[in-house]
Amino acid sequence: MNKYIPYGRHEINNEDIDAVVNVLKSDFLTQGKEVEKFEMAVKKKLSVKEAVATNSATSALHIACLALDLKVGDFLWTSPVTFVASANCALYCGAGIDFVDIELRTGLINCDKLEEKLKAAEGSNNLPKILMVVHLAGASCDMKRIHELSKKYGFGVIEDASHALGGKYKNKYIGNCEYSNICIFSFHPVKIITSGEGGMATTQDRRIAEKMRMLRSHGIYKSRNAKEIQEKGLWHYEQIMLGYNYRMNDIEAALGQSQLKRLDQYVEKRQKVRSFYEENLKGCKYKLTKIPKECKSALHLVVIQLPEEMQHAYKQIFARLRLKGIGVQLHYIPVHLHPYYKDLGFKSGDYPEAESYAQRSISIPIYPTLKASDLEVTVKILCSEIY
Ligand SMILES: *Cc1c(COP(=O)(O)O)cnc(C)c1O
Repeated sequence: MNKYIPYGRHEINNEDIDAVVNVLKSDFLTQGKEVEKFEMAVKKKLSVKEAVATNSATSALHIACLALDLKVGDFLWTSPVTFVASANCALYCGAGIDFVDIELRTGLINCDKLEEKLKAAEGSNNLPKILMVVHLAGASCDMKRIHELSKKYGFGVIEDASHALGGKYKNKYIGNCEYSNICIFSFHPVKIITSGEGGMATTQDRRIAEKMRMLRSHGIYKSRNAKEIQEKGLWHYEQIMLGYNYRMNDIEAALGQSQLKRLDQYVEKRQKVRSFYEENLKGCKYKLTKIPKECKSALHLVVIQLPEEMQHAYKQIFARLRLKGIGVQLHYIPVHLHPYYKDLGFKSGDYPEAESYAQRSISIPIYPTLKASDLEVTVKILCSEIY
């Protein structure tokens, strides 16, 4: 039996362990100083004014939508090739959901199709309130063009950058929100860095950040102003909107800070792994997905695509690779094809490029601790099993 090589995994070192143990020995466990320090560190790294930590990217996506006032009667548009959370957040708010098809070779939202759909929607008074773009595998969408479209048609932009921490667009870190209202990261163990579970929303807009801070903690406002505290009493707080308990805790934040120090190192290692695949899979029939040239991908995933004539063998190839110990994965089953979404009226054929993407794409192993010997085994198996 071969060793099993997963498509992704986290790394924990002694520094991470010490950071967590220190919090466990301290007086505070829940959201406190460490969460603030983690937010500060992310702001500094990404050159962004505001960062709001949460207990997952899913909750960050939800409060980001609420902060942009998404509600019943509104629409959010997103990519069908994403994790379900990018679409579910609209439904949490009572809003409607719709999708924009992707480009097969990048897996990213197709801006020509987006523009076409916006033109049609303008005619029928159906423009979206929010566009949720997804930086699939860690490469940025065409944010400059999306920003221009958002100005022309008047919608908000949220970046689901769950895959993309440490990646760059036009030489700046993804998450600086130059072309969006809010950007979301995930610290789930399979992502670029981890806090166990956790997420973060970044924005340049202080008012949006304040609203998200209230929403992550029951919609409660507590003054930090000395005069107001004196007037109202030390015990005073007020609930001014309906919020949730979406707080990150200090244990997670300490782990996140410790991991953040290795962010660039991790992305460099991922670049090396992708380069190795590029070099060694050259003669093969399938191709790695394309990364747009204005991007430095964080490379959460590396994805190979079978040519159309091999599509019929997808299932067998996938099974053979798993059997040989390569933990391949599909990212993603198009969201609109899940039973829940089909019940909302979506059907096969609605987004042909997304569906074609899912019939050909295979995520292969990439993570910072992937050994050279495992990489060689992987390449050898890939070359012999896909023919
Ligand atoms: C992982 C992921 C999420 C959800 O992240 P959690 O932190 O697990 O809630 C959302 N969107 C995308 C694209 C993801 O990959």
